[in-house]
Amino acid sequence: MRALHKIEFGETGSTGSRARIDAICIVAFFGAVLVLAIRLEAFAHVASFSATHERWEIDEIFTTLMVMPVALGIYAWRRLRETRRELARRRAAEAAASEMALHDSLTGLPNRRKARTEVTKALESAADVPVTLLVLDLNRFKPVNDLHGHAIGDELLLMVGERLVEAAGHGAAVYRFGGDEFCILLKGLTSADAILSRVEAVSSVFDQPFELSERTVTVGASIGVTTTDHPGTTMDQLLIEADAAMYRAKSKAGNEFGFFEAGMERVALRRAEIESELRLALINGEIKAHFQPLVRLRDQRVIGYESLARWYLPDGTIRQPDDFIPIAEETGLISDVFFAVLKHSARESRNWPQGQRFAINLSPVQLNDPWLVERILKTLLKEGVSPGRLEIEVTESALVADFDVARDVLWSLKNQGVHISLDDFGTGYSSLRHLSELPFETLKIDKSFITNLNDDPAAQTIVRTVASMAHSLGLLVTAEGIETEGNAANVAAFGCDIGQGFLYGHPEASRGAGSVTSVDDADCELAAPDSRRTA
Ligand code: C2E
Ligand code: CA
Ligand code: CA
Repeated sequence: MRALHKIEFGETGSTGSRARIDAICIVAFFGAVLVLAIRLEAFAHVASFSATHERWEIDEIFTTLMVMPVALGIYAWRRLRETRRELARRRAAEAAASEMALHDSLTGLPNRRKARTEVTKALESAADVPVTLLVLDLNRFKPVNDLHGHAIGDELLLMVGERLVEAAGHGAAVYRFGGDEFCILLKGLTSADAILSRVEAVSSVFDQPFELSERTVTVGASIGVTTTDHPGTTMDQLLIEADAAMYRAKSKAGNEFGFFEAGMERVALRRAEIESELRLALINGEIKAHFQPLVRLRDQRVIGYESLARWYLPDGTIRQPDDFIPIAEETGLISDVFFAVLKHSARESRNWPQGQRFAINLSPVQLNDPWLVERILKTLLKEGVSPGRLEIEVTESALVADFDVARDVLWSLKNQGVHISLDDFGTGYSSLRHLSELPFETLKIDKSFITNLNDDPAAQTIVRTVASMAHSLGLLVTAEGIETEGNAANVAAFGCDIGQGFLYGHPEASRGAGSVTSVDDADCELAAPDSRRTA
């Protein structure tokens, strides 16, 4: 669009200079004729010729010719006026186009391009008037869009923009960077307290639900903040810092804001690298599952495996989940990771004894996917594996963000025959409501309680109590992180049903690498505690 305007204005410019050249030529021509006429006494010749040729009406023709320039002058003046109007119209169109190019069409807020100009200008006088930049990324916006449609999503973004403008206060500029990303420029805030209170005001915008025309929705935001009084700072540098602080804020649950600290930008840069590498890895099938045995403690039989994601790098090394799962969760790639692991596990499981299952970790953010259950079932169907072979492990953090959504998803899976277990029990919120209202079949006590079990009486009490409570609720108990025979004996004595840990086997590329006897088809079902609920 801009290129188009440049071409148009290029033509208008050359039209103007051509008109100038024409005018100069005409004036020069008439000047030359005048000089010639004076030199040659032209009028005397014409007069005598006219007197001798009265019939030719030369004097009348001349009189008419003398009047004609007036008419031509009027014509030229009118043309000029029209050209000027046309030029003004084009200039207005150009101004409107460039205004459009600097604003977001949905919210009417200035966009990233305008932010660049304005922040760069503000930075020039940062020594006198410090510059603070906030980068905001909405949380849970995608599910609003997916569940309620784009019209609701648009309305929400509009309202978020309005609230931000109000909260940012006088003299601040709010920009929409696209999608669900906003940016705020604050100028002249010198004290940390002043900055903090303004940031808190902006963050509190998300405390209240957004009442839209058809429904009320709640979204949050992660906010990164950076501030400078150094005029040499560039807009790009400031954005890298604010983004880094925002990503740090995002990695915590809930609505968070965070201030930039030195070193964060390196982390953010590395994260961006891993993100783009992970996108490629998913396309190239480099994400695979490793399988770690789950062992029935009473007879040491393998009843299934936990499928753990591994990233096979092209150089032959393997990247561990802690190095990419958090990034995958932040960028939404976790769903693709999950389905890569699911597909691989389903395929592998076709060679296992019938009763053996595979357990896959479901990230809390995946609960926002309205098609999650359908997609899981479709994948299993396509791989020819029954839902009863799949176990989904969720952590309690998944349940806190939106309990109702979590309950719906988990019950739908359960009703289709998928087993559900509560992972890392004891590290999160450990609410009894979670245990009583959700269709858990197994509770996995976190390995931090198991590793020190032998010498930690408190951990022993916790494991014993949790196991007994779980059994009375009809749940099985898995102890993870079993590394020694002593550990194994202890967890069994304290009432755990299933064991997992390096003692039985590390996560391996193919199952069966562990030291434990596998089971045949008939023998791998778990006996549930007596009071086990039926869904
Ligand atoms: P997690 O779900 O608690 O998985 C168990 C982790 O404990 C695994 O680490 C496993 O290798 C490790 N582990 C097992 N036995 C022992 C033991 O005896 N001692 C010790 N010290 N560690 C043991 P891994 O494979 O590195 O996975 C780490 C975490 O990454 C997992 O914790 C899980 O939260 C996450 N993760 C792995 N794969 C996926 C995935 O496909 N999706 C999602 N959302 N998260 C995954
Ligand atoms: Ca797990
Ligand atoms: Ca775990």
